[in-house]
Amino acid sequence: MTRPILLLARLNEADLALDATKSRLAEVVEAARKPAELARAEEAAAAAEAEVAKLRGEQAEVEQAQAEAEAKIKQIEARLYDGKTTNSRELDNSQRDLAQHRNQKAGIEDRLLELMVALEGATSRLNAAQADVARLTEQWTNRQAGLRAEYAKLKTRLPAEQARVAAAREAAPAALLRTYDHLRPRHGGRAVAELDGDTCSACRVQAPPSKLEEARFGEELVYCGNCGRLLWGE
Ligand SMILES: [Zn+2]
Repeated sequence: MTRPILLLARLNEADLALDATKSRLAEVVEAARKPAELARAEEAAAAAEAEVAKLRGEQAEVEQAQAEAEAKIKQIEARLYDGKTTNSRELDNSQRDLAQHRNQKAGIEDRLLELMVALEGATSRLNAAQADVARLTEQWTNRQAGLRAEYAKLKTRLPAEQARVAAAREAAPAALLRTYDHLRPRHGGRAVAELDGDTCSACRVQAPPSKLEEARFGEELVYCGNCGRLLWGE
């Protein structure tokens, strides 16, 4: 007959291996997700793109207004200098009209200049954001291949590890399993600790000689007086 504690030691080892595979699987799935940094870079690129589009729209409108002002100025100048108008009051009116339109055109040109400066800034922000997106996307894509391979490998390992746990449980009496199942979640998955010399390998506290002997040779379960795990040794 195998000593009860050895049945549990074997079971705990199988459980811990399965735990490790499952937790690595979760990590791999998490690592394969789109990184937050990439999502932020994409948002920044979209915002910069919208800004550039808005400024270009405004630029087109202002250029249209500029063309209209120029046409109007040419029209007034033609009327002024064609020599047909001799009425001085009419000439004065045209002069005033011309000055007003030239003034308006100067204002439009100032606005155009502002827009060009703003566009230059927004365009360079857009280029930088797009470069970030490209770089982060490439990094992410490169990582995917390795993660996919690891995921597949871990998945194929699972059935054997699950079978090993099932077999170890099968070999242990029900009362022993109840003790184990009660302890395991309370001790981070490690319900059973092997002795390292005279020390509990989980919490590094020494066990008294009476416990050492029982843990190594006895049939009874022995608990570490410090961490409460089941102790075993050979
Ligand atoms: Zn301990």
